[in-house]
Amino acid sequence: MTLPGLAAFTRPMSASLERFAQAKLADLDAAALRRRLAVTVRGPGAEAEREGRALVSFSCNDYLGLARDPRVVAAAREAAARYGAGAGGSRLVTGNHPLLPALEARLARHKGKEAALVFGSGYLANLGITPALVGPRDLVLVDALAHSCLWAGARMSAAAVLRFPHNDVAALEALLEQNRTGRERAMILTERVFSMDGDRGSVPEILALAERYDAWTLVDDAHGLGVVEPGERAPLEMGTLSKSLGSYGGYLCASRAVIDLLTSRARSFVYTTGLPPASAAAALEALTILEAEPERAARPLRLAQRFTARLGLPEAESAVVPILVGTAEDALALSAALEARGFLVVAIRPPTVPAGTARLRVAFSAAHGEAEVDALAEAIAALR
Ligand code: PMP
Repeated sequence: MTLPGLAAFTRPMSASLERFAQAKLADLDAAALRRRLAVTVRGPGAEAEREGRALVSFSCNDYLGLARDPRVVAAAREAAARYGAGAGGSRLVTGNHPLLPALEARLARHKGKEAALVFGSGYLANLGITPALVGPRDLVLVDALAHSCLWAGARMSAAAVLRFPHNDVAALEALLEQNRTGRERAMILTERVFSMDGDRGSVPEILALAERYDAWTLVDDAHGLGVVEPGERAPLEMGTLSKSLGSYGGYLCASRAVIDLLTSRARSFVYTTGLPPASAAAALEALTILEAEPERAARPLRLAQRFTARLGLPEAESAVVPILVGTAEDALALSAALEARGFLVVAIRPPTVPAGTARLRVAFSAAHGEAEVDALAEAIAALR
């Protein structure tokens, strides 16, 4: 094999592109909004070694501590040995290895749905679902705090997209009342547990409303699965394999007909490579553990509630607790002060959260000990 000549790596940069990038970076720096990557080695337990420092992490979405569970890791290893490192093609061509339909059957059963479809990630699932179901003549209503990928899917659908105030069912009803007529189909997009606030979506109320206005509800369960009691199921239940299941990938659970339609129509499913065997096997094993060990699943919420009680905060509704700070600078400073005390709690800044609501997002895991939770609460109380 011959390597490309050095010239291939030394083509001149575009001066205008460099100016653009440098100016944008300067803007981000001035607003304390520039993001930087930090190499992080996770585990064992809730430990994370970050740039050489050993910290207790409260920023991982591995809510059940399964990403490093030896059974999950062994399942991934065996699947890679048996089926290879990659799927080798899109699902509709040659990438549909046996672990994918097996995982779909297990996800559907777990969610009490007829069928499921596994996507390359949760983000890809949301990019594919909404545009496959609605188009220019239709209406999509999205919770103001819905995740970026729910918004992206809504916008890609080319339907009329309206934002309703966070979890405000009365406002949602008013929007349906004013805008539903004349639109062929309508969808409502919300979350079971909101990713940056940790509160729960008003799913039963929204489902009742959706029925009255013949709208289809898509619930994003990314932060709910395995952590909170699901309650009533929506017609469209999506989620990720990357948080409580400790793996990678996304899914939709729905009726057989809807899943069959998406199999043909969701562009982010059709035109991308199938999930690798190791990721599918890890998720399958994690689902088995989740169902077999209810005491593990109960732990993150219990720890989160212990934490909110210690700090006098409103009782946690999920494994995620926000500590609202305000400015990006102050959130970064609080995060740095906690890091100096041995805790990794990453600051979340706009545009991930609305302007003026920069925060620490504290995520609890079955891997945390009570003493670690209490120590973090004490450190935060002392610093605030
Ligand atoms: N939905 C929500 C609510 C999320 O928080 C996330 C991930 N942060 C996703 C979807 C995307 O999932 P994934 O990481 O599997 O792409």
